[in-house]
Formats: sequence, structure tokens, C-alpha cells
Amino acid sequence: MSADDLDELTRRIFADRDPVAELLEARRAAAAAPPEPCIIPMPEFPPRRPGALFGGPIRYRCTVPGGGCPWAYELDPYAADLGPLVFPLSGSLEELDRAITEQAERRGREVREGIEGALREHFAREHPGQEPPDLHAVGESAAAGRGARLP
Ligand SMILES: [Zn+2]
Repeated sequence: MSADDLDELTRRIFADRDPVAELLEARRAAAAAPPEPCIIPMPEFPPRRPGALFGGPIRYRCTVPGGGCPWAYELDPYAADLGPLVFPLSGSLEELDRAITEQAERRGREVREGIEGALREHFAREHPGQEPPDLHAVGESAAAGRGARLP
């Protein structure tokens, strides 16, 4: 692909779009919507194994009110078999964009549901009669999460 081809491709992608206006509108809509309930705590990123090329597991600690529970759910995103990304070779740019977005959203939903399911299962087994708390309702923010430090 030459520089002219890339310029033409860029013009076609943004011909009928105003990306800045789209971004600002998305931010306004996100700020206006009430937050969805969230039971997933901020993750922790334990040090990776010596010699490992990529990051290790991501740890989500139990959120039982009062703390003190040592249980944690660990997710290794590099070990998960997510299957291949599938691209429509003969599709338009919009179809390609839609296919990639749908697969990314599906994968994100599967990861979120896996973490939520593990937390609910743990609460049912170890903290009977309690539900994982909605962290938005109890005021835990992304910045204030106890596991917000990166390695
Ligand atoms: Zn627990």
C-alpha cells in the first residue's frame, strides 16, 4: 500500500464522519447515563513469572463487606482460548469495523461474565446470604480501588 493509497483509505473512512463530534457525543452520553451496577473490583497485577514473555494472571479479590476474605479469582488473559478473530475479506470497511467491534464486545462480555460468575459462586459458597456488593453504590471508584497499582 502506497502513501497515496493510505491517504485515499483515510479519506474514505472519515468522508461522512466527524470523529471529534462522535467522541464528544459518546462522552456526553456516557456521562449522562447512570452507571451500571458493577460487582467486579479493581484488578491486581501480581508480578509475572521469571522468564515469562507476557504478563501473568490478573487477580480480583473477594469484595465481602469488611474485607478479610483471602479468596481471589485469577484470570490469565494469555492462557484463555479466545478463538480466532474472523474478518470478512470481501466486506466493506463498515462491515469490517462491525465484525471486529462485535467480536471485541463478545469477548469483553465473556470475560466480565466469567469474573462475575466466579464472584457470585464464591459468595454463595463462602458468604451465604450475601450478594457481591455493587461497587458503584458503595463508592469504590477505579482510582480508589485497592488493587489499582500496576507492577
Ligand atoms: Zn470471600
